[in-house]
Amino acid sequence: MSIDSVNGAAGIRNTISGNKAILETENKLASIMAQKENIDSKIELKESEQVNKLAETNEDEAKQVETEEKIREEAGSDNIKEEDSDDRNALIRFEDVGKIYRTGQIVYEALHDVNLEIMEGELVVILGPSGAGKSTLLNLLGGLDAATSGKIYFGGEDITSFDDKRLGRFRAIDVGIVFQFYNLVPTLTAIENVDLMQDLGVEIMDPLKALEMVGLADRKDNFPSQLSGGQQQRISIARAIAKMPRLLLCDEPTGALDTNTGREVLKILQDQSRIHEKTVVMVTHNSLFADIADKVVMVKNGTVEEIIENDAPLDAEDLNW
Ligand code: ADP
Repeated sequence: MSIDSVNGAAGIRNTISGNKAILETENKLASIMAQKENIDSKIELKESEQVNKLAETNEDEAKQVETEEKIREEAGSDNIKEEDSDDRNALIRFEDVGKIYRTGQIVYEALHDVNLEIMEGELVVILGPSGAGKSTLLNLLGGLDAATSGKIYFGGEDITSFDDKRLGRFRAIDVGIVFQFYNLVPTLTAIENVDLMQDLGVEIMDPLKALEMVGLADRKDNFPSQLSGGQQQRISIARAIAKMPRLLLCDEPTGALDTNTGREVLKILQDQSRIHEKTVVMVTHNSLFADIADKVVMVKNGTVEEIIENDAPLDAEDLNW
C-alpha cells in the first residue's frame, strides 16, 4: 500500500468519526436548546407573575400616597412635605450642642443647648453682640474647636465623633475660612497665595479661575502690599474657594473695610451661595447684614435666641450701612 492510500484511508476514517462527532454535538445542542426553551418559558411565566405583583404594589403605593396627601390636606398643612425636603438638604445639624471653656479653676459656658439646621447652598448670618458666642459657634461649625456636649452633623456624618486625623481632613477638604484680617503671605503674589492651598494636599481649581471669580485675575502678580484692603480680602476669599469647599465660613469678613469695598465682598459671598450653590455662614455684629441672608441666627448669652428665615433677601449691592 502506497503512503498516499494509507493517508487516504486514514483520512476517510477521520472524516467518518468527525461526522459522527458533529452529529453527537448537534444532538446535544438540540437537547440543550429544548431545555433552554423550557427554562425561558418558565422565566417568562415568573416575570409576568412579577409584573402583575408589581402593578398591584404600585397600585397600593399610589393609594398610600393618595391617603397621605389627603391627611396633609385635611391637616391644612404643607409642613410635613417641607420638613421632609428640608431634611434631605440639610448640610449641617446641631443637636443640643454645648461648649464649656476651662481655664484653671475658671469654667465658662460659652454655648449651651444650641439646636440649628443649615441647608445646602444657604447664606446664613450669625448675629449677636460681642461675647455672645458667635465665634465659638463658627469654630464648632468648621471643626476648629470641639463641642463639650451634643452632636454636630455635617452631610449626615457626626463630626463630634471624628478623631483628630479625620477632623483635620474635614477642615482641609470641606471647609474654607475667611477671617476679618486677610492672613495673606506678604512675600507671595496674589496667585501664589491662592495656589498655596495645594500644599494642604487637596484638589484645587485653577488659581486664576478662583481669582476671576472675585474679579481680580488682572492683579494676579501683585503682592498683598500692592493691593487695597478690599482687594486683599477678595484674594483671601479666592484662596478659600479655590479648594471648592462645601462650607465657606466668614468671621467678620468686612470688619476692616469701608462700606463700598465691604459691599463688594458681601456680593461675592452672596454670589457664592446664589450662583455657585455654596453654603456660606458669616459671623457679624452688624444687624444690617441680616437683610441679605437666607437665614439669620440670633445669638445671645451663649444661646440661639431666634432663627429667622428670610423669604426675599436683599441683593448685597443694594445694602447700605
Ligand atoms: P463673640 O464671637 O460673639 O464675640 P466668642 O464666641 O468669641 O463671642 O466668645 C464667647 C464667650 O466665650 C466670651 O465670653 C469669651 O470670653 C469666651 N471665650 C471664648 N474663647 C475662649 C477661650 N478659649 N477660653 C475661655 N473663654 C473663651
